[in-house]
Amino acid sequence: MVRLIPIDILEKFYKHVFSLAQLFKIIDPSTFHHREFGFVFIKDDKEIFTRNRSFETPDDFLRFVRSEIPQAISVGGLYDPPPRGQSITQLKWLGHELIFDLDLTEYDDIRTCGKGKEHVCRQCWPLVRDSAIFIDETLREDFGFEKITWVFSGRRGLHCWVSESSEVMELDEEAREAIVEWISPQGENFRRPLYWQKRALKIFGKVDQIGRIDVVDVTAKKKVAEIWKTVRKRLPRVDRQVTIDVNRLLRMPGSIHPTTGRLVTIVKDIQTFYVDDSPTIYELIS
Ligand SMILES: [Zn+2]
Repeated sequence: MVRLIPIDILEKFYKHVFSLAQLFKIIDPSTFHHREFGFVFIKDDKEIFTRNRSFETPDDFLRFVRSEIPQAISVGGLYDPPPRGQSITQLKWLGHELIFDLDLTEYDDIRTCGKGKEHVCRQCWPLVRDSAIFIDETLREDFGFEKITWVFSGRRGLHCWVSESSEVMELDEEAREAIVEWISPQGENFRRPLYWQKRALKIFGKVDQIGRIDVVDVTAKKKVAEIWKTVRKRLPRVDRQVTIDVNRLLRMPGSIHPTTGRLVTIVKDIQTFYVDDSPTIYELIS
């Protein structure tokens, strides 16, 4: 049995509340008709996922969701010709925003609130929040990206969309893998320059003044090494495949998460955002 949002509630939502305004803050509306979309429908109590769909105009898209009432909507990359049911692998790939996916579940082993796994609470949320702050700063300072949008995933995480320019859109899988590796290092033996480590210590260790630790002060060095042990556990744990896969679908900003009923929404300030700030479909339609 799939848990779902009642169709009449969704119907009201799509008719009176839903719009493409949030999506168009992230994606370029001029290439809308090349964009792949995916949908989840419920038919005979079964969840049906369908992708490889595109729409000539935003109005066509709105008409479709208002008549078909999907439980969930996701958005992918750009293709030529626009996907019309055939697999996108047969089409020419034109580009995809650079994306990162953070989920609190990835940090289950270092939660300290005592409430166990797979939940979200105010004590655990900073694990995701601080990773987002670190990623945001790294993308801006190390890569010079500016058009970065953070989106609440609707449940326990955040999505980052970098929609800078055609150069970013056209990054291949190898380049995306290198970027995600820089941000979210794998294993124990990674090496990063001092400015990268200082950023991590500042954000995850709340250490602002490290000073000249690399010189002679043995006590200070030991102290930093101690803090670093904690900090390295809190480094961004992004779902690497989401970033690397140039055909990836991601929940559409402005849509509803079918399990929580919460709006997948653009986060204005990642420093202060908490899950409850995102309204539920029930609040939205009332
Ligand atoms: Zn918790």
